[in-house]
Amino acid sequence: MITSPTFQDVDDRRLSYLSESQRGWLKKARDFANRLTLEDVIQSDKTNVFRRDLFEQACKEGLGALPFGAKYGGSGGDYLSFCLVNEEFGRRCVPIMSSLGVHVLCQEPVYRFGTDSQKEKYLTKSSTGQYLAAFGLTEPGAGSDTAALACKAKVSGDNFILNGTKVFITSGAASDYFIVMARLTENDKDHGITAFIVEKDFPGCKIGQKFDMLGMRGYATCELVFEDCLVPRANLLGEFGAGRKVALSSLAKGRITIAAQATGWAQGALDAAVRILHETFGSSSATESRMALLGEMALQVEASRVLTYQAACAVDRGEGDITLAAMAKIHATDTAMKVSTDALSLTGLIGARPDYLLERIFRDAKAGQIYEGTNQIQRMLIARDLLKK
Ligand SMILES: Cc1cc2nc3c(=O)[nH]c(=O)nc-3n(C[C@H](O)[C@H](O)[C@H](O)COP(=O)(O)OP(=O)(O)OC[C@H]3O[C@@H](n4cnc5c(N)ncnc54)[C@H](O)[C@@H]3O)c2cc1C
Repeated sequence: MITSPTFQDVDDRRLSYLSESQRGWLKKARDFANRLTLEDVIQSDKTNVFRRDLFEQACKEGLGALPFGAKYGGSGGDYLSFCLVNEEFGRRCVPIMSSLGVHVLCQEPVYRFGTDSQKEKYLTKSSTGQYLAAFGLTEPGAGSDTAALACKAKVSGDNFILNGTKVFITSGAASDYFIVMARLTENDKDHGITAFIVEKDFPGCKIGQKFDMLGMRGYATCELVFEDCLVPRANLLGEFGAGRKVALSSLAKGRITIAAQATGWAQGALDAAVRILHETFGSSSATESRMALLGEMALQVEASRVLTYQAACAVDRGEGDITLAAMAKIHATDTAMKVSTDALSLTGLIGARPDYLLERIFRDAKAGQIYEGTNQIQRMLIARDLLKK
């Protein structure tokens, strides 16, 4: 079991302002994490193998569609509750955390832009865990610059024909369907970026190379290759040319999910540092320089938490705000990187042992600064919004 002596302290503060339902989701996530053995947690990172069984268990407990209403199997929780689950999973390195985040991110545009039959087909099975979803935006030549997307879709009778390659797709090799952005043309008319729901078994849809990553291992991250891939017209998601709007509807909330995961990573790194200092040095750990660093680490973790909950609460009030999401994502992921680096500096060789999960958090935190829009790009979004006003 992974245990942490400082666990209770953080909870005590939050209990004063979380609702009963939010505390219930937090407890569910904690119980889920507590049932995992340390070996469970370390193995998926070491072997780089995705734990579909754990994902299905999480869905059975209502985590697969937590922030959606009951009509298509959602659990009716708020976005803050989903963030609490992600924070808890980040703190304990629960091996399905990122796939669950992306899975919910993929349901968002189907709720907002999908037809009734798409909702019936994809959302209901997504909530039970029968389907796992992945998000296909990034390409070898188009990461931050989505205008450079080269994946093409052509109208052909009752189908679209897709050609192109997507890279770094979380859960890609384990998923049942993908939300894919491609540039749509019809009789040489360019309609711009358009979204499609592509099932893994559609003809011409292939899994390309699987990535052996530095961090975020065990997530079946891979290339998706479309070679004359036949997508039925019924699988157009939203209107022709509405792909950016569809992608943004997912990413605006997804960045808050990542901020929550990163708050959890930073808390997990702080927990590990405190625990190792206690175990190794006992009371002599309390040198002034160590205390100053620990104090600063704790301050930054709490600041990440406040920014993340603030962005989640804005979503729950129906006032989703790109700037608040960007600020939470930047602060929480940069803090996870800094706190895990400082924790490793404080604890040396002992901290680098896999059983403290600290070196893993250090590797995962780097990815947090990059995916769903790098932190440099998030800063530009904040500035653009300021200048617009
Ligand atoms: C672990 C992991 C999982 C991922 N999962 C997915 C997934 O499921 N689906 C998916 O579609 N993608 C996924 N990605 C891809 C991810 O979203 C991209 O890596 C990210 O958007 C950055 O794109 P890039 O890697 O091409 O870097 P680039 O866009 O080439 O950027 C390289 C550097 O240049 C900077 N930069 C670029 N443009 C500017 C600019 N205009 N101004 C200032 N700085 C700039 C960037 O901030 C960055 O530091 C994943 C990535 C990782 C690491």
